[in-house]
Amino acid sequence: MPEGDTVWNTARVLEKALLGDVLTGSDFRVPRLATTDLTGWTVAESASRGKHLLLRLTRDDRAMTLHSHLRMEGAWRAYAPGERWTGRPAHLIRVVLKTKRAVAVGYHLHEVTLVPTAEEDSLVGHLGPDLLGDDWDPAEAVRRIAAKPQASIAEALLDQRNLAGVGNLYKAETLFLRGLWPWTPVADVPDLDGTVRLAQKLVASNRGRWTQTTTGSLRRGQTSYVYGRRAQPCRRCGTAIEKADQDERVTYWCPHCQPKPATSP
Ligand SMILES: [Zn+2]
Repeated sequence: MPEGDTVWNTARVLEKALLGDVLTGSDFRVPRLATTDLTGWTVAESASRGKHLLLRLTRDDRAMTLHSHLRMEGAWRAYAPGERWTGRPAHLIRVVLKTKRAVAVGYHLHEVTLVPTAEEDSLVGHLGPDLLGDDWDPAEAVRRIAAKPQASIAEALLDQRNLAGVGNLYKAETLFLRGLWPWTPVADVPDLDGTVRLAQKLVASNRGRWTQTTTGSLRRGQTSYVYGRRAQPCRRCGTAIEKADQDERVTYWCPHCQPKPATSP
């Protein structure tokens, strides 16, 4: 599931394939950019901001940013020139960027946009502190979450305006590890700071690998406590893990380890 760590890893893939090189060709298979040609632009930086990818390009004194978002299924793959593109079916290709030494292919991307780099904030300025950014600021994330005391803690962790980079997997796992019922109002969470710091730790610990684990195990079927484990026994207490819809997403929890607070409606 593309969350902050996956997007961070993807930025590194693009960095390794393209950084410092001049584009020798481009192909945009999204209507809005169908006539765009980035030939001659140099790839100056590959960055991530929460779940957003920012590929910064320069040409003479101009600077443009190619923005993309992976959502649930998106991916970028890098190939050697002439190598077969085996990542995904061809009809899912949205962007192709070529240099002399590599071809980067973006599959199933969302929000593919090209803006002057000076205007990046129009795309990512609304985001809260980036879990994997150099400027990660847990106190600011806590301040933003606390500003909506009636929101559920699950909703608050997913809201990228509060903190950027937590998706459904890390949300569910953070709440399990903190013993929090997903519908607990923010106002009733005893330690918001500890919750936010744990979410950051879980995402950060998965940088640099594609298997996401919160348990410490990389073995198939053992990488999560509750996420994706409906009806399976809790790893701590053996109670069957539950699954339910919450704000148009699904959530998983252990009813014993994450009890509904007595004060909640
Ligand atoms: Zn349990």
